[in-house]
Amino acid sequence: MASDQARTACVVGWPVEHSRSPLIHNYWLKHYGIAGEYRREAVPPEQFADFVKRLAARGYVGANVTVPHKEAALALSRPDDRAGNVGAANTLWLDDGVLRSTNTDVEGFLDNLDACAPDWDADPSQAVVLGAGGAARAVVYALKLRGFARIVVINRTRGRADALRERFGQEVQPAAWDQPTTLEDSALLINATTLGMAGQPGLAVALERLPGRAVVADLVYVPLQTPLLAAAKARGLRTADGLGMLLHQAVRGFTLWFGKKPDVTAELRTLVAADLAT
Ligand code: NAP
Repeated sequence: MASDQARTACVVGWPVEHSRSPLIHNYWLKHYGIAGEYRREAVPPEQFADFVKRLAARGYVGANVTVPHKEAALALSRPDDRAGNVGAANTLWLDDGVLRSTNTDVEGFLDNLDACAPDWDADPSQAVVLGAGGAARAVVYALKLRGFARIVVINRTRGRADALRERFGQEVQPAAWDQPTTLEDSALLINATTLGMAGQPGLAVALERLPGRAVVADLVYVPLQTPLLAAAKARGLRTADGLGMLLHQAVRGFTLWFGKKPDVTAELRTLVAADLAT
């Protein structure tokens, strides 16, 4: 990062009011005494390409991208391996006038698990992923990076699970939603569906079939303590929640835009958890 001039970044979405990214990045800016600002930008799909092309002219050094723009952001930028493999970009930055992109859900997922359950990938023989949407793509790619040999993807719409095998290869084992799965052999169970989210149906999984060393991760963060995580804790299993992933995925963007790698602290977590509870 070259100058001390105040820098500005934003989150672009449609809608965007729900995004907690301004709370996270503005907390870090204040905490580290960095002159800068992070804003919300509500941009409809038909205006997204123009918005991105004029990012620098609007005074931005980069942006987070949220629903429904992540695929368009990929197409309009020069993606790294992560964004390219996942097929979606959630972080943009200007690098000598070139608009580059990455997908920080990959490291958000991994760094959160590393923080919550340090040896979670000691036995990378099998993981079970529930869901086959955008978040599941980031999770499957992350598990491949950590060398998981078998990644069972269970999804309501079987064709989307099959598409993940086509995208990521033979480690992915698609399974139907109602098909019995060998949870007994799984070191890790991840919910990457919207089930368990406030206002959505719950998620029922027979957790007693998981081994005692297993870790359960939920990407849903409203509510913070999902019924799945509550059941896993009641069984004495280690857990990783969606808020942890949300905070860890924000680190890379802040580093790229503002030149400082920020810490995910208990204070930040408490701040965002309190906001989620309102
Ligand atoms: P998405 O692309 O819309 O995918 C939604 C997934 O949920 C699909 O697999 C869908 O199955 C499944 N699903 C929805 N309703 C269902 C139901 N009634 N029964 C069974 N399956 C159902 O969404 P996404 O972007 O992947 O996001 C998924 C979740 O991850 C959301 O809760 C999101 O907030 C969360 N997330 C969290 C973070 C974080 O940092 N913590 C980051 C990204 C996403 P079908 O294919 O059959 O429709």
